Amino acid sequence: MQIQQHVPLAPLTTFKVGGPARYFVEARSEEDVRAAVAEAQTRGWPLFVLGGGSNLVISDAGWPGLVLKIALTGISERRDGPRMLFDGAAGEDWDGFVAHAVARDCAGIECLSGIPGTVGGTPVQNVGAYGQEVSETIVSVRVLDTASGEPRELENAGSGFAYRSSVFNTRERGRYIVLRVTFALVPGGAPRIEYADLKRYFAGRSHPPTLAETREAVRAIRLSKAMLIVPGDDDCRSAGSFFKNPVLTCEEFERLQARAAAIPSFPVPDGMVKVAAAWLVEQAGFTKGFTHGPVGISRRHALAMVNRGGATAANIVSLKDEIQKRVLDQFGIELRPEPVFVGFDQL
Ligand SMILES: Cc1cc2nc3c(=O)[nH]c(=O)nc-3n(C[C@H](O)[C@H](O)[C@H](O)COP(=O)(O)OP(=O)(O)OC[C@H]3O[C@@H](n4cnc5c(N)ncnc54)[C@H](O)[C@@H]3O)c2cc1C
Repeated sequence: MQIQQHVPLAPLTTFKVGGPARYFVEARSEEDVRAAVAEAQTRGWPLFVLGGGSNLVISDAGWPGLVLKIALTGISERRDGPRMLFDGAAGEDWDGFVAHAVARDCAGIECLSGIPGTVGGTPVQNVGAYGQEVSETIVSVRVLDTASGEPRELENAGSGFAYRSSVFNTRERGRYIVLRVTFALVPGGAPRIEYADLKRYFAGRSHPPTLAETREAVRAIRLSKAMLIVPGDDDCRSAGSFFKNPVLTCEEFERLQARAAAIPSFPVPDGMVKVAAAWLVEQAGFTKGFTHGPVGISRRHALAMVNRGGATAANIVSLKDEIQKRVLDQFGIELRPEPVFVGFDQL
């Protein structure tokens, strides 16, 4: 394990912005992770754990401490009664992991095809798309607990999964380093075709789609929205959806409807209502293709802020602030960013 210095971080992210890591190390084994954490603690370096860099805005100043890039690899599987358990090491490419499960004809994560990043990144914000979330199939998450320096196995119920959140990005933020994630999938199971885009894609078919066809459909739909990373496609030089869909109480929703009767909404548990952040952003004047210098909104997705080339993190933050302000003024809704801001003092 070799600690490097002044390593540019922008190329390690999908947004391609941000400064360098003061110190940088790549961990290929659990032992490497443990050693890197001990080193950072001994030297008093702030630690940042980097996966695939697909949900990050890194500040122009970069990271003042140690960036620990998770590069643990390996996938294994075993039978568990009617289920098949798949263990994915945290540094495995997520889409490769999905492809593996689909090739083994196991259902449960097919709708999550094409999401960039690592296996270890998925529990952090409880990744979800097209009608599935990883929390539905995660059995347990093996972590290194930086408080004790020891590995631990967190069960699904102890991981605090909710919409785009978990213990990893809320109350225990920074404490656990994900080493491995175990998923329970269903051999020979049917794909989940519940999301409107997917239903439309398969409309008129005489036979139900296979898992492999569902995976390809999801990737095709994602491509049409620049939600699939394609080198050279500047509409996907982003961090995916930039704002979370606001989840409102009934009273808040009624207040919003008085100003925005046409807003798309979906009921969620506990009597709450989820509303479309993309609609709010567009109605506030930031339509697809909006450009402001080197940053803008994707031409194919209203919720994706993009780096059109040469953007700085400051450019991104400034557009973020402008969008949040206009949505707040116009609709009284505070939009919350989905990506993680790294190396910013005040965010
Ligand atoms: C084009 C595009 C489309 C996207 N589509 C979706 C989508 O449909 N649904 C969705 O939910 N997300 C989506 N995302 C966001 C992103 O891909 C996911 O959040 C992804 O899981 C992030 O994983 P990562 O490995 O890239 O994490 P990173 O971006 O490297 O890190 C994100 C956070 O997770 C932490 N982290 C990463 N790995 C570990 C680990 N091993 N242990 C502890 N903490 C860790 C980091 O410290 C950081 O706080 C999209 C992004 C892009 C660019």
